[in-house]
Amino acid sequence: MSGSVLERWRAGLAVGELRLPRCGGCGRLVAHPRPRCPWCTSAEQTDEILSGIGTVYSFTVIRRAQGAFAGTEPYAVGYVRLSEGPMLLARLDALDLADLAVDVSVLVTPDPEGRLTFRLVDPSSDVPTSSPPARNPRS
Ligand SMILES: [Zn+2]
Repeated sequence: MSGSVLERWRAGLAVGELRLPRCGGCGRLVAHPRPRCPWCTSAEQTDEILSGIGTVYSFTVIRRAQGAFAGTEPYAVGYVRLSEGPMLLARLDALDLADLAVDVSVLVTPDPEGRLTFRLVDPSSDVPTSSPPARNPRS
């Protein structure tokens, strides 16, 4: 594999893929990407493309924001547990706040700029049931 783990993560995002390294020592996915496994310290890794299917584990709604985020509220920030195990902490921009709940199924996909987008999915079919809304130009 060429490039650092973060370069490979970003290269995956640029082509619409969630890629994480899988440890050659213990077999766990290494999230967030880093050069050594945090459980067994092995540097042996192979990249794996993840499904993007996950569930909302926890979230909070930001109703008063400051600095660069002022004017973009309300928005949600939360953890999504991917079906492969790792959790992502992200701004859940593409989800309608009225639809957001713990345990709802989502599909995580990178947009062309490498930002993660989240859409609700029907858990029985993994088919998105919502489309991403227009992105706030300030986010
Ligand atoms: Zn390991």
